[in-house]
Amino acid sequence: MLQRWGPQSWWPAHSRLEVIVGAYLTQNTNWSNVEKAIVNLKREQVLTVKGLRDIHIWNLEELIRPSGYFRQKARRLKGFIEFLDKQYDGSLDKMFAQPTETLRSELLSLNGIGPETADSILLYSGNHPVFVVDAYTRRILERHQVIDAKTDYEEIRGLVETAIKSAEPGALDVTGAGKDPRHPVSRMSSTERTELVQHYNELHALIVRAGSEYCRTRPRCEECPLRPYLPKPTTKDTKKAQRKAKA
Ligand code: SF4
Repeated sequence: MLQRWGPQSWWPAHSRLEVIVGAYLTQNTNWSNVEKAIVNLKREQVLTVKGLRDIHIWNLEELIRPSGYFRQKARRLKGFIEFLDKQYDGSLDKMFAQPTETLRSELLSLNGIGPETADSILLYSGNHPVFVVDAYTRRILERHQVIDAKTDYEEIRGLVETAIKSAEPGALDVTGAGKDPRHPVSRMSSTERTELVQHYNELHALIVRAGSEYCRTRPRCEECPLRPYLPKPTTKDTKKAQRKAKA
């Protein structure tokens, strides 16, 4: 994937808080709707901890309306700021200085933060070394027979993180040969990170790209960069495909 596309310049944001807000807003909607809400928040100069703390929830709802479920999302964003104030004096520096698993548990206890959102915040906002599992990850790993339909989020995360942590030194370099980024370089995408964190950053971004462009409901394996890694079809698979072709 890296040879085909190169580094993907994730996450498209100018601040850590913008990543966090984006991670909340992207739930159950597409990214273009999130961008509209982010533009509104920036225009009103409330995309800061103080701005989100001070803004009345009704006004916040209006600004993030384009992202859908805006009442619920406004409450959840306010809840995050309350947590940040109470636990970390409103400081993202203090919050992200926590050990990864401690902060992960705290984030997971907040209303509206599931594992994917927690890990997106940890990785893309806080530069913590975690793997983000999304629906594309699951679909690709299932189709490649690495997991089955019953494998849960934590098992998938553990599998990938164990594989990456045991990689040879140098194998995690993701500078890449391709040059087809998904987003223009942003302040957050070009933040300095450890090699391990950058690896997780690119891995998730590249999986999303492979998933959205090729591993759709109807897969386009012929053109997909992951095709060489498909398991060989068994005799049973071949017979099934032949029966399907005849039908
Ligand atoms: S080769 Fe690509 S499209 Fe085909 S199953 Fe694998 S990831 Fe999906």
